[in-house]
Amino acid sequence: MNKHIVIVGGGYVGLYTALRLQRTLRRELRAGEVNITIIDPQSYMTYQPFLPEAAAGNLSPRHLVAPLRRVLPKVRILNGTVTKVHHAERTVTFQPAGGQARDISYDVIVMAAGSISRTLPIPGLTDIGIGFKTVGEAIALRNRVLHLLDVAESTDDPEVRRRALTFVVVGAGFAGVEALAELEDMAKDSTRYYRNIEPSDLRWVLVEATDRVLPEVGPEMGKWTLEQLRERGIEVKLETRLESCVGGHVVLSDGSAFEADTLVWTAGVKPSTVVNSGDLPLDERGRIKTTAALTVAGTKGAFAAGDVAGVPDVTNPGQYCAPNAQHAVRQAKVLADNIVRHLRGEQLADYRHKYVGSVAGLGLHQGVANVYGVKLRGFPAWFMHRTYHLSRVPTLNRKVRVVVDWTLALFFKRETISLGEVEHPRDGFRAAVATMRR
Ligand SMILES: Cc1cc2nc3c(=O)[nH]c(=O)nc-3n(C[C@H](O)[C@H](O)[C@H](O)COP(=O)(O)OP(=O)(O)OC[C@H]3O[C@@H](n4cnc5c(N)ncnc54)[C@H](O)[C@@H]3O)c2cc1C
Repeated sequence: MNKHIVIVGGGYVGLYTALRLQRTLRRELRAGEVNITIIDPQSYMTYQPFLPEAAAGNLSPRHLVAPLRRVLPKVRILNGTVTKVHHAERTVTFQPAGGQARDISYDVIVMAAGSISRTLPIPGLTDIGIGFKTVGEAIALRNRVLHLLDVAESTDDPEVRRRALTFVVVGAGFAGVEALAELEDMAKDSTRYYRNIEPSDLRWVLVEATDRVLPEVGPEMGKWTLEQLRERGIEVKLETRLESCVGGHVVLSDGSAFEADTLVWTAGVKPSTVVNSGDLPLDERGRIKTTAALTVAGTKGAFAAGDVAGVPDVTNPGQYCAPNAQHAVRQAKVLADNIVRHLRGEQLADYRHKYVGSVAGLGLHQGVANVYGVKLRGFPAWFMHRTYHLSRVPTLNRKVRVVVDWTLALFFKRETISLGEVEHPRDGFRAAVATMRR
């Protein structure tokens, strides 16, 4: 039959779909009857729920990513972005990491390009804001927080010090709350190495437009999380919006204003921009219009799942599946099986999964969970958070590395060094060249 399956995006949906196809279609792949290609700017899949632990220094950043070429030896990996999908002609426009763009033809396409931060036109946001969706952002933030402790310790200007020690997070979903809780815990822990910084000198502000935090764990556990954060001295401002942050001057809708060097934006996600160019239909929220069988509505040979897709929740008529890993992983399994059914001319199956709740880490030995109606808080929830995510992180190799990181952290204190220098590796060399010219 010689069919080419192109998967746009090598994250949760892309990796798990390809893994299952690699296994189910092994004979066809060996015979050259089927070829699978994944296109992604990165050569790895990021296990995003571990980003907060990487930011806190409990996990090495390399251990929360799965290398696509190693995990998927039967799949061709192309690094770059898909800039356009022309489904009528069965081609995508591919911009490789280097060189000219070209068209790639396919028989079956899987749209698995995930989401990007949903931002608002707030003055100053692009200047000082940073998201929390990638390894790069998590590690840059870690370096930044630790660097700012160095700045605060070394200055004798109280304004510079206050600004350096003020950290703002906007958005109190699991990305925002976990990022803030882990970074705050790490920063507080690090103050023991500084002579003139006390934990109480750090100011952490969580800004949330609605009246609750962590909706993923339900109202009761959300309320408990709110109390916990406040007990830790974190200022949680509910029903409050960021109005501007030009040059680090933060202005909030409750009338407060202050200076901060760090502002993390985690106020929701929107589909990857690739959906806006091409001929795939979109729903009212700008996601790819998808059926319960994970096909792109009104098309043949096009499938979509995960954050990029508006997948109807058949367990909750009229609603869509939330953009989370719980759905993405399960959708990938049904999607891969439906591709096989499609190739064999069989009837497709619907995706059906009832959201079972969530677990969240709130710093070392602290967590909150509401799974299958079982509500846990504190250490038991943190333990559940770790064991659950350990069971989910792809490949045995990564699981072992994660356990080794955690075990080391039991015996040695966590690393609190800022390696921000890696973000500007040529500065020293440039300065040396400049001296020579002079
Ligand atoms: C900090 C954080 C914590 C989280 N914690 C949890 C949790 O505890 N539980 C939970 O269920 N969910 C959690 N999530 C959400 C979860 O990670 C996402 O819902 C999940 O990653 C979605 O999977 P996906 O495959 O749709 O997208 P992704 O995993 O984001 O993959 C999308 C891929 O597409 C690639 N891509 C994008 N555009 C293009 C293009 N034009 N061409 C080619 N490739 C492209 C990207 O590089 C990326 O590799 C968390 C998210 C974050 C950020």
